Amino acid sequence: MNGLPRIIWYYLVTKYGRKFNSRTSLINWQNQQVMSFLKQVLPKSSFYRKYYQSLNKYFDHNLNIHEWRDLPIIDKSIMMENFDDLNTVGIKKSAALEVALSAEKSRNFAATLNGYTIGMSSGTSGNRGLFAVSQSEQQAWAGAILAKGLPQPITTPQRIAFFLRANSNLYETVNKQRIQFQYFDLFKPVESHFAKLNEYAPTILVAPPSMLRLLADAKNNNILNINPIKVISVAEVLDPLDEVYIRKSFNQIVHQFYQCTEGFLGYTCEYGTLHLNEDILVIQKEYVDRDAGKFMPIITDFNRRTQPIIRYRLDDIITERKMPCRCGSILIPIESIEGRRDDIFYLPSKIEDKLIPIFPDFIRRAIIIASENIQEYQVVQKSLDVIVISLKVATEVYEPVKILVTQSLHNLFNQSHCRVPEIIYQEYEVSTIHHSKLRRVRREFSV
Ligand SMILES: [Zn+2]
Repeated sequence: MNGLPRIIWYYLVTKYGRKFNSRTSLINWQNQQVMSFLKQVLPKSSFYRKYYQSLNKYFDHNLNIHEWRDLPIIDKSIMMENFDDLNTVGIKKSAALEVALSAEKSRNFAATLNGYTIGMSSGTSGNRGLFAVSQSEQQAWAGAILAKGLPQPITTPQRIAFFLRANSNLYETVNKQRIQFQYFDLFKPVESHFAKLNEYAPTILVAPPSMLRLLADAKNNNILNINPIKVISVAEVLDPLDEVYIRKSFNQIVHQFYQCTEGFLGYTCEYGTLHLNEDILVIQKEYVDRDAGKFMPIITDFNRRTQPIIRYRLDDIITERKMPCRCGSILIPIESIEGRRDDIFYLPSKIEDKLIPIFPDFIRRAIIIASENIQEYQVVQKSLDVIVISLKVATEVYEPVKILVTQSLHNLFNQSHCRVPEIIYQEYEVSTIHHSKLRRVRREFSV
């Protein structure tokens, strides 16, 4: 089985084969999946075998790991340091890096090494991640994406407009069927897409929120006349301000795919609530603030054997949702993906000699609640005592809005018992070209 049949197979398995009626049955199923996965993968990965060596108590003589949920965690830097011994197919880091870098340069992201697709993810602190996936792992991923993302069964014709960094032969595989994919280059100016989009009339629109926002502008100005039945935000944090704007412009819920090189972690149900994809991989929580329900996900993906991801901690901060979702799914609902841990602001305490973390969500809300005249914004922490803010607001209200924003942030900082930093305002720059991911709240120095 290969290519399209395999994608359809995974589509069917994800959509219809994994219905759990309780958390217990889900957890039992995950345990079975992970234990059989470890049994297959550990003998092939010398890194993990060594890493778990001192943990004999976890292993019985059949190499079963019952307590796998407590195994030591890894992260991107550990994965990169041990790349050669960690993957199970003998790929060398130096060769993979060469392939990935030349793919970035030529913008041909279909690059492969020994038949494995090589991908690279960037990190703020400069630590790049390298990822190797087999064809069948990619097809499983595509099947899962379709199962979660399509608003109707796969037999219903759809035209999907997909804004990506580069095309992939994966989409062309599916293209021959009723589901059509049209790739739009994220690096081209937004105006260059209007004519093609109008002609194509997508039923599903997938793009980063910063691009969705530009398309929403064009739709509001009657330059763009598309009416997708599903709008999906990917690749960037969906800011509540952008969510409202995009939702109103397209008159559709803004759905989200929480997806990164490490895995397909979450999707929104029909009510627009994000649920973790616990029916595809295991996601454990490492709390950074238990009272506020903020955690970093630790993922174990029992489908990836090429480069096994076992108890891998992502740098993202996720906020739990307190209320259950109306859809009745047993998959954990979440309130928001806040962004990277690197974007947490740190300010000196007024009382003690320590730094106080301020989560991106709190900054975001402080800005948004300050005034409804704010169309767009960016907040950058430059140092422990300087924050730079740029606001897009109508000229006539700019000065009063500035005062309200400053006041709102002062309130937040005072409530958090930190020293109030200097706040500098700069002009808001609108870019219609995607050079990098939009992060409205970010920190530019390391703590
Ligand atoms: Zn739901």
